[in-house]
This record gives sequence, C-alpha cells and structure tokens, in this order.
Amino acid sequence: MHIWAVANQKGGVGKTTTVVSLAGLLADAGHRVLMLDLDPHGSLTSYFRFDPDTIELSAYNLFKVTGKIPEDLPASLILETGHPNLSLLPASTALATLERHAQAQGGMGLVISKMLTILWDDYDYVLIDSPPVLGVLMINALAACQQLIIPVQTEFLAMKGLERMVRTLTMINRARKRPVPYLIVPTLFDRRTQASNKSLRDLQDTYEELVWHSVIPIDTKLRDASTAGIAPSALDPNGRGIKAYTSLVDSLMNPVG
Ligand code: ADP
Ligand code: MG
Repeated sequence: MHIWAVANQKGGVGKTTTVVSLAGLLADAGHRVLMLDLDPHGSLTSYFRFDPDTIELSAYNLFKVTGKIPEDLPASLILETGHPNLSLLPASTALATLERHAQAQGGMGLVISKMLTILWDDYDYVLIDSPPVLGVLMINALAACQQLIIPVQTEFLAMKGLERMVRTLTMINRARKRPVPYLIVPTLFDRRTQASNKSLRDLQDTYEELVWHSVIPIDTKLRDASTAGIAPSALDPNGRGIKAYTSLVDSLMNPVG
C-alpha cells in the first residue's frame, strides 16, 4: 500500500482537485484506490454526491473508538464511487468537533495510520485529503503518509502559507522515524499573468528541487468534473489539466534521485 497525503494550511489551493485527479488516474490505470476525506467540510465527499451533513458513517467513527480499532470497522465505512477501482472513506461535519482538541492526545495522532494497517492488503494506493487547519486531522494525515503533496496556488503571497506548512512538516518529521518526503506542486497556474509567473519563480528560487518541475494549469474542465460528480479523467482524458496530473502521477511514481 502506498499512502499519499495532500495538504496545505491554505484553502482553495487545489487540494481536493489534486486528490480526485490523482486517484482517478491511478484507478484508471488499474490500481485499487481508496480516497480518504479528512476535511470536515467534506468537499471530496460531496464531490461524489454524498452529503457530509447527513452521512451516518464516516472517518469520524474511527476517532470515536476508545482502544483498538475493530478489524471490521474500516471496511464498513467505505463507499463505492461508481468507478470499479475507486472507493471513498467519507468525511462528515462531525469531524469538526475533533479539531477543537488541537493537541493530539495520547495516540490520537495515529488513528489513521492504525486504520490503514487493517486495510493494508485491500488497496494499492490511499490518497488522503486534509483540512486547511493544523489540528488532529492534519496531524493524522501527515503521520500516516509516505509521500506528501503540497499544492500551492501560484498567486501573490503564495509563499506565505507555504512557509507555515513547511514549518508544520518539520515539526511532524521530528516525531517520525522516517521523515516524509514532500513535493510542492504549483497549481491554478495562469501563464498569461505576471502573478502566476512571478510566484512560480519565487517558489523555485526558494524551494529549488522540492518544487515539481511542471505546473497544474487553470483548466475549467477540472472544475466542471466536480459538478459532474466523476473523476476528471473520466470527463476529459485529454484536457490539459488532466494531462498535467498524468505527468504528476508519473513524477510521484518514479521519483528522481
Ligand atoms: P482546496 O481543496 O485546496 O480547498 P479545491 O481543489 O477545492 O481546493 O479547489 C478550489 C476551487 O478551484 C474549486 O472550485 C476547484 O474546482 C477549482 N480548481 C482547482 N484546481 C483547478 C484548476 N487547475 N483549474 C481550474 N479550477 C481549479
Ligand atoms: Mg478541499
């Protein structure tokens, strides 16, 4: 099982779009993929037409367990999406109540890691969508993943949010046996604007090889896919947004060096 998390302490940078796009492409390629929604807003859950306000079983049930997670619990929370290789462990708005406990109390930070060991043989890839808040949920995502993807919107002040995210990660990495490798992915890139070009140069100057060598362009088809309720790759496999995500999958599966 490969576990990738997508996180940034800023909202609206393309986290959920990145999760759906990468998950859809991996599923199209024949991998068994689980998407895990840890954002109390439940955008990923809504994307697939489930309602995070009314859903009864969700990731929240995992956090309510005291003691060991029952072997049959994780599978009982998973929903099918219509794509044969693509499943979803949804969020519910109840997850927001967990964020009040910013301090992960004993073991609270490892709920998702432990849950995934139960599902270890059932999926080839797990993609975790996380909330734009440094709290219990993001800590769970960062503690569980083997690869972190940090989408950064190429716009004025893009670097500001990123600095905070990198500091958070440094803190988490100190507590881990093995540091999480991360890749900064420039998103919502509009090559006609100075703001996009300048922020991309700033990112590259500061973070160098930690920045992905390409960009995710603005592509309205990616936005349209979310209203269609299907993975973007199903909507338009040749769109430039999905082509960029195809190249990102390739970079993540074949890291250089
Ligand atoms: P986050 O999860 O970080 O809050 P989203 O993935 O929900 O961000 O993206 C925010 C908004 O921007 C959504 O409406 C989404 O459809 C849109 N969006 C994301 N990436 C792109 C893109 N490359 N091109 C066009 N629209 C995009
Ligand atoms: Mg989101």
